[in-house]
Amino acid sequence: MKNEDLRDFIRNRIREDIAAERIPGSVTTRFPPEPNGYLHIGHAKSICLNFGIANEFDGVTYLRFDDTNPLTESPEYVTAIQEDIRWLGFDWQENLTFASDYFPQLYAFAEELIEREKAFVCDLSQDEIRETRGTFSRPGVESPYRNRPIQENLDLFRRMRKGEFENGTRVLRAKIDMRSPNVNMRDPVLYRIIHAEHHRSGSDWCIYPMYDFTHCICDALEGITHSLCTLEFEDHRPLYDWVLDNININFHPPQIEFSRLNLEYTLMSKRVLNKLVQSRVVESWDDPRMPTLAGLRNRGIPAAAVREFCRRIGVTKQDNLMETELLDYCVRNELEQTTPRGMALRNPLRVDITNFEGEEVELSANWHAKNKELGSRILTFGSTIFIDRSDFAEDPPPKYKRLVPDGIVRLRYAFIIQCEEVIRDNNGEIESLRARYFPESRSGEDTSGLRPKGVIQFVSAQNAATVQIRDYDRLFNTRIPGRDELESELNPDSRIVYDGMVEKAVVDHTAPSFQFERIGYYLRDPASTTSLPIFHRTAKLSEGWKPK
Ligand code: ATP
Ligand code: MG
Repeated sequence: MKNEDLRDFIRNRIREDIAAERIPGSVTTRFPPEPNGYLHIGHAKSICLNFGIANEFDGVTYLRFDDTNPLTESPEYVTAIQEDIRWLGFDWQENLTFASDYFPQLYAFAEELIEREKAFVCDLSQDEIRETRGTFSRPGVESPYRNRPIQENLDLFRRMRKGEFENGTRVLRAKIDMRSPNVNMRDPVLYRIIHAEHHRSGSDWCIYPMYDFTHCICDALEGITHSLCTLEFEDHRPLYDWVLDNININFHPPQIEFSRLNLEYTLMSKRVLNKLVQSRVVESWDDPRMPTLAGLRNRGIPAAAVREFCRRIGVTKQDNLMETELLDYCVRNELEQTTPRGMALRNPLRVDITNFEGEEVELSANWHAKNKELGSRILTFGSTIFIDRSDFAEDPPPKYKRLVPDGIVRLRYAFIIQCEEVIRDNNGEIESLRARYFPESRSGEDTSGLRPKGVIQFVSAQNAATVQIRDYDRLFNTRIPGRDELESELNPDSRIVYDGMVEKAVVDHTAPSFQFERIGYYLRDPASTTSLPIFHRTAKLSEGWKPK
């Protein structure tokens, strides 16, 4: 997956570093997910960047789990995250690590800071620490425990580690500057007490290091040459540097920030996604409506389309809000030439052909208009067919080109029909139609002279397979969700399930994905039964959207 042509400020910087021989060994990056949820498409941007760079510069990427909070993390997420990265097409080879692997070293560095009078044990409560931290305009207030002697700090920290104190009673804090204009530098917490089983280290530890302390040290220990993170960590960079400058460590990676991916109508925080799962708004983390990589995969989105999406959005320092259409565009580009096209009806409406007699007529149709390699299939036409309800209108809007009472329309690959009669049920609802067909109007050999305005898809009764069709739409109705109550922002129609019909040949085909003509791209659910196949809508068809 080499792509020497990519140029962005990070890759340019790496080229400069290589040219200036500033890199010992090979370019080394890392992707550091916290295993507290599934990866989402925002993470894909970071994965494509970190792994992409290693591929392009013959470097190495560590997959490092940032597992420093046993209360929210679990091995289920560790497994899912690895599966998703592999699916996306990247490989960390032997470079799989966990922050928890470094707990002993991290602890030793913490004692080192204490010995250098750069850290102290603080007995203030969490609330008190927050209240004395100050604000952007007001400096913080020093903790009364700030000037504890080294020995007392060491003793207390060791007793914290032994488990002598309750959760929340004490923390280890860096001793930096409570008047710093950067709030992150106001004696930040480095370690806290959490009496909980950790999924890897078990009950070995009851104190856990904070992200800002852990991350820079792990980067240094692994020899990360470029530590790439999102812009919200820009204000943490001085702390990243401070920690490495104040311990005895021989490597100091540069932290480089880029803007995170934001998508319209989409929320990408694992915390919020977890809430959607817990509150049953969606069925699971891998529900096809979720912006998780597992969700996208279950919706039929090819990994190559996600990579192409990430390539197109690029890497900058500008805040951005991407249009969801761009992802659909990449998906269609990926599927367009390789996906067979069949006919499907979401809401079948029966049409009896009054003048048809005898055996069903067999018709041949290519699976793809241009890609002949996809071959062809046989479909049939006979005395009972089905069309989609939306392709008939008694009271048509202007410019309606489909079937209307007494009107004509062409059935794709077959004949022209004319509607003769509308049959209603006891409630007055349309139950079926009666129509005649024009035998001389067969596709490809039409001598009827008729000029119908529209072409619609159909399935004949004998050639129909019953299927379930699931159409997905955005989960949120607001362009930038998360500013209001989640419930009020949800799109109630994010999933619509249809009892539909497709040609039998679609069900018999082994292709994973189809284009259903005039409707969209669909993935056949590999776990669904052959008696009721389920099709998930991957993307709508183009509505003329083009990238800018
Ligand atoms: P979330 O709030 O969704 O849990 P996070 O940043 O806390 O996101 P991590 O597991 O800590 O999740 O993220 C791993 C890496 O992915 C980090 O380096 C982070 O910067 C990056 N990342 C997360 N979200 C995005 C995004 N929307 N765009 C680009 N990179 C992202
Ligand atoms: Mg995080």
